[in-house]
Amino acid sequence: MPRLITGAIGLALVLASSNAAQERAAFTVGTATAARGQKATGVIAVPSGSDAATNIPVAVFHGAKPGPALALVSGAHGTEYASIIALERLIGLLNPAELAGTVIIVPLVNVASFEQKVPHLNPVDGKNMNRMYPGKMDGTQTDRASFLITKQVVEQCDHLIDLHGGDLDESLRPYSYWTKTGNEQQDRISREMVLAFGLDHIIISADRPKDPQASRYLENTATTRGKPSITVEAGHAGTVEAEDVGALVNGCLSVMRYLKMLPGSVTVIEHPVWIEKVVSLTSEQTGVFYPLVRRGTYVEQGMKVGYVTDYVGKVIFEARAPAAGVVLYICAVPSMTKGATIANIGVVAR
Ligand SMILES: [Zn+2]
Repeated sequence: MPRLITGAIGLALVLASSNAAQERAAFTVGTATAARGQKATGVIAVPSGSDAATNIPVAVFHGAKPGPALALVSGAHGTEYASIIALERLIGLLNPAELAGTVIIVPLVNVASFEQKVPHLNPVDGKNMNRMYPGKMDGTQTDRASFLITKQVVEQCDHLIDLHGGDLDESLRPYSYWTKTGNEQQDRISREMVLAFGLDHIIISADRPKDPQASRYLENTATTRGKPSITVEAGHAGTVEAEDVGALVNGCLSVMRYLKMLPGSVTVIEHPVWIEKVVSLTSEQTGVFYPLVRRGTYVEQGMKVGYVTDYVGKVIFEARAPAAGVVLYICAVPSMTKGATIANIGVVAR
């Protein structure tokens, strides 16, 4: 699920000290403890509170050689399948004996969403699992899970990549987010990470929350704690296409090469399309949605991108692009309600 860009005024950034992982003989996340040169799997156990307990699966690869700790997280939205399958594949691919540093993989944050095929939200408490960070233990399941991920994953890593994609109802073109914090050193590293990842459309987020206590998003939770981090999106409408999964797997491996966790040269996107803002087009009517453009199409302002009819065929809303730009995603299903997003248009930076 693409995140919304929201504005906030916040606190100054403090660069965290990093690479504590290099010194450790073993690295523990939840119930998974990996000795140096080993892999371990387990869960982050979220205890019951006002609602049910849950277990969030985790794999830890504690490399034979020292290096940074990289966290890879997907499945906050449990039906964004391509991103989940990409991390499942990486769990099978990585070899701790060849690794410098530590990789923490959390492939499925929102287990109930995945199991029940519920898009966008955690069906246990109705909350979005990428909006409640840094979380708290005296809240509902999403709050408690977010708190434990902040403590055990974010605080223990030096870099984080949050993987998403188009949800069941979203036809999304792959893109990534680069958060501009104003801290030159941190922004340089995260910029190099996003270029190394390799998705050729990059949204510049310059208005993210700056208060670590109100970070809302996972990547922002890492970023406000001084850890250069990015968000990436590929996959659409419930599909698991090789092209999307491959882009995500190769992107993670490329960032690991950039961070010198794996040997090999890094290829970077040389001419990315930088998106300076994202404009949402919402429906003014409830009814049946018909798209007229595909994801990735470039549109002019005012161009018709789709329309909505009532349930007996009368056109009741013409959806026109609010700005010129690229269709980052468009609604993938006919179900449309008043106020729901029809499309997100990325305005290309000049
Ligand atoms: Zn998502």
